[in-house]
Amino acid sequence: MTSKTSRLLLALVLAAAVAGFVALDLGRFLSLEQLRAAQADLATLYAQRPGPVIAAFFVVYVVVTALSLPGAVPLTLAGGALFGLGLGTLVVSFASTLGATLAMLVSRHLLREAVQSRFGARLAEVDRGIARDGAFYLFTLRLVPVLPFFAINLLMGLTAMRVWTYAWVSQLGMLAGTLVYVNAGTQLAQITSLQGIVSPSLLGAFALLGVLPLAGRWLVSALKARRALAPWRHLRPRRFDRNLVVIGAGAAGLVTSYIAAAVKARVTLVEAHRMGGDCLNTGCVPSKALIRAATLAQEIREAHRYGVRVGAEAAAPDLFESRSAADSCAVSGAGVPAKVTVDFPSVMARVAQVVRDIEPHDSVERYRGLGVDVQLGRARIVDPWHVEITQADGQTQTLSTRAIVIATGARPVVPPLPGLQEAGVLTSDTLWDLRELPPRLLVLGGGPIGCELAQAFARLGSKVTQVEMGSRQLPKEDEDAASYARQRLEADGVTVLTGHRALRCERDAPGHASSGPGAEASPAKADLGIDGSRSEAGAGPTSDRPAWCLVTEQGGVEHRIAFDRILCAVGRGARLEGFGLEALGIDTSGRTLPVDEHLQTTFPHILACGDVAGPYQFTHAAAHQAWYAAVNGLFGIFRRFKVDYRVIPWCTFLDPEIARVGLNEQEAVAQGVPFEVTRFDLDDLDRVIVEGSAAAGWVKVLTVPGKDRILGVTIVGRHAGELLAEWVMAMKHGLGLNKVLGTIHVYPTLAESAKYAAGAWKRANQPLGLLRWVERFHAWRRG
Ligand SMILES: Cc1cc2nc3c(=O)[nH]c(=O)nc-3n(C[C@H](O)[C@H](O)[C@H](O)COP(=O)(O)OP(=O)(O)OC[C@H]3O[C@@H](n4cnc5c(N)ncnc54)[C@H](O)[C@@H]3O)c2cc1C
Repeated sequence: MTSKTSRLLLALVLAAAVAGFVALDLGRFLSLEQLRAAQADLATLYAQRPGPVIAAFFVVYVVVTALSLPGAVPLTLAGGALFGLGLGTLVVSFASTLGATLAMLVSRHLLREAVQSRFGARLAEVDRGIARDGAFYLFTLRLVPVLPFFAINLLMGLTAMRVWTYAWVSQLGMLAGTLVYVNAGTQLAQITSLQGIVSPSLLGAFALLGVLPLAGRWLVSALKARRALAPWRHLRPRRFDRNLVVIGAGAAGLVTSYIAAAVKARVTLVEAHRMGGDCLNTGCVPSKALIRAATLAQEIREAHRYGVRVGAEAAAPDLFESRSAADSCAVSGAGVPAKVTVDFPSVMARVAQVVRDIEPHDSVERYRGLGVDVQLGRARIVDPWHVEITQADGQTQTLSTRAIVIATGARPVVPPLPGLQEAGVLTSDTLWDLRELPPRLLVLGGGPIGCELAQAFARLGSKVTQVEMGSRQLPKEDEDAASYARQRLEADGVTVLTGHRALRCERDAPGHASSGPGAEASPAKADLGIDGSRSEAGAGPTSDRPAWCLVTEQGGVEHRIAFDRILCAVGRGARLEGFGLEALGIDTSGRTLPVDEHLQTTFPHILACGDVAGPYQFTHAAAHQAWYAAVNGLFGIFRRFKVDYRVIPWCTFLDPEIARVGLNEQEAVAQGVPFEVTRFDLDDLDRVIVEGSAAAGWVKVLTVPGKDRILGVTIVGRHAGELLAEWVMAMKHGLGLNKVLGTIHVYPTLAESAKYAAGAWKRANQPLGLLRWVERFHAWRRG
């Protein structure tokens, strides 16, 4: 039996049972008057056959509560009247728990899947909350009668709360009420109405009991904070120099301090190295500037596809001599790639200039102008309320502060491979000082940074090998996007080696071919040289650095991969050490700093945001968190906000770019979220055809089955990062595909891809039944 059939059957059985209850007016047996009238007979029956009476009572109670029928209160009173306080409470307590649990399971079986497909992401959020605090909330709801019990059963059935948790918390929560009603039942003869049983003062007491667990939780966290602060309490100043001290002037710290200053707090921002942090100095900005140069080089190489001749290569078979201009434009791919000369020092000089051009946006002057007290120096948290700042000249000052935000970022992780340091490993921190193009560059790591840089260097003329331990690059993206990225990298001349575990670096042994086309030396040891066919200017040996090779292991076989420079891009770990966290007892052993959903550490007034806290390591994610860090740090005593991670976009700046917001297929499957896929291939788009890009890509939209609600979008293609903005907006504000389709997009633009993807979804979700009627209507109109 399919789950759909079983759901239908269950719904029918339930509907029949409820209909029977109403049609036969069974409710009349569960009224107070009826119970009082039958009390003497029932008592006699109970005296004669106690076992069967208890069993029958139990079954009736379970059925009534499981079907959410009216009558549970009179039944509870009857329990008291028949069995007395002790046994009555016992029987009612178990019967009501079983009935409530069954009702919850019925709701789950009938409704959860439908709700999940409609509100997948939000439900996942609710489930996380339920896993964290569900028991507390349920206990409170059971005690404080703000919601009728059948509603609680129904709602909790929609969540992923564990059945066992639901049962025991319900039983515990209902116990006090059960006792009161069973006790009242022992005096059934005196009860004239149900209203008087629970007095306002008793209700008040229940409410108090109900909020107790939540208050308890609050108390526990307050006590935890108190315990963490206890050893330091004597150091707490009476007055504070600052409302907030922010450590680190990267994206996270800059935005935090800006917001603090905007709300008139006295805030100090401390930076030990360079204003702007990694994004400006060693991350987004230089990498995108390098990619720009690489893309340009590639476009020039491909100029022949547009009938454009560049430089000396014009001597090659000439398109225009043999064909008309119109013909030649139609024959894309004719001619030969132009020879490109990359002046690598000039490329890197421009990269540095771009950084300098953007520097003023993050400068000391700008932030001082915004009201932030910027201090250049190394910050150290001396105690929970004091931050010491040591300037380059050794001078120190200590500031007392109400709150601290740690925004110290992350640094590249360099694995402890033998020989790696000796081989002069480069990272995204040091790469930008390079002034010679490495003839052979080995990129360790197949994540976004590794892929972006591998492609850029290949396009600039290096012979690049990319080594990845996993089975594929870009493991967070869908298989189709990752394998397309691999194809494009290989088309650019990158040798991609997946499933290779790096073991060590060794000097390239004499006699070993350090390059040359794919030399597999032996089954036990193979030289994976790099095909040098794309060798252009800058690819010759440019320094007298000794050559090295990386030894990898793949399927029990060792391989040697020769390189001139090796770039390590295997991930980034939070900067946690050396500024006082250890002394405070804050856990620094992980890859990021542990913070709660308000970005608070174990000390509620010490918060963290950006790469140091994770879970996302993007500039825009850091800036997003910064608002929460600033507001919770400054105003947390009134209200704290949980960081909203529901719509976080990102982009890998390969050519073609891979941009994503929300779920992709592999995540939806892993999270058990039902989805429908609509894919629109960009090579169908007029603008893409006009542009003549070799790598077109696609837009993939995941929606709730049968609905236009967007669960996630992946765009693979030129300018995918820009194109994603419309989807981010749609998801953030709950706009579905019908709204995207109804929006006018300029022709011919890449942005039209959104409309076409929405159109593809619409075609796949046509109301066929209705259209058949419309067809008949037209036939009738034609006469
Ligand atoms: C090659 C590369 C490319 C990237 N490309 C992109 C991209 O395209 N898009 C994107 O969104 N993200 C990208 N990122 C990621 C992005 O750079 C980070 O997510 C972002 O910089 C995080 O900002 P942050 O403020 O958390 O940390 P950071 O920018 O690292 O800032 C932390 C600052 O704290 C300072 N600091 C540390 N300790 C102390 C101390 N004790 N006292 C005073 N100061 C201290 C550091 O000097 C640093 O300046 C890229 C990263 C790399 C490496």
